Amino acid sequence: MHEAQPLPPFLIERFREWRARMGPGERARLATLAENGQNPRGMIIACCDSRVMATDVFGGEVGDFFMHRNIANLVPPYEPDGRSHGTSAAIEYAVIALGIEHLVVMGHYGCGGVRGCHDMLAGMAPELDTPTSFVGTWLRLLKPGFEALSGRGLDYEARIAALEKEAVLVSLANLMTFPFVGAAVGAGRLRLHGVWKDISDGDLEFYDAEAAVFRKV
Ligand SMILES: [Zn+2]
Repeated sequence: MHEAQPLPPFLIERFREWRARMGPGERARLATLAENGQNPRGMIIACCDSRVMATDVFGGEVGDFFMHRNIANLVPPYEPDGRSHGTSAAIEYAVIALGIEHLVVMGHYGCGGVRGCHDMLAGMAPELDTPTSFVGTWLRLLKPGFEALSGRGLDYEARIAALEKEAVLVSLANLMTFPFVGAAVGAGRLRLHGVWKDISDGDLEFYDAEAAVFRKV
């Protein structure tokens, strides 16, 4: 016996409206993708935050992007320890099985996960700073980013904003610890990208690795 209730009326209503709006072109596209399988050109790793519509800025359609979302858009380092690593599994599948050409790590403005990480590591969030908090343990992945902020003389809000971008950079660095990512990048089959989305106004910044700065697209 599993605990599961029927869908609430508002979800059933929204589903029926969505189904009714589906045109013949969209139906045909779904049928083709179901028949032929997916062949996305890119993968996006974004935050779980409900305000981050990760594919809308790229005009994403069904089948375009292989998606992975987790708290604070973090990629862990390569750890082949036999445990269940959801993010690493998604990356492995995208790079090896799907052969994606682009992998985008998307950070965002106002990230509660990043703020939680900052507060935990600054000693201001003891509820996260415990081995029984999955959130706290996960956010510890961003510790190198937190440490990179020291000595920059930033006030609290500026530190949070800077750490949102560090989350992208830590993830990009950790991606390269996966041997199959390094091999694909080295062979020119895969390109890594870092972006930060301002969910307050829709702006997008990309990471310019040569200049080591984020720039508006
Ligand atoms: Zn977030």
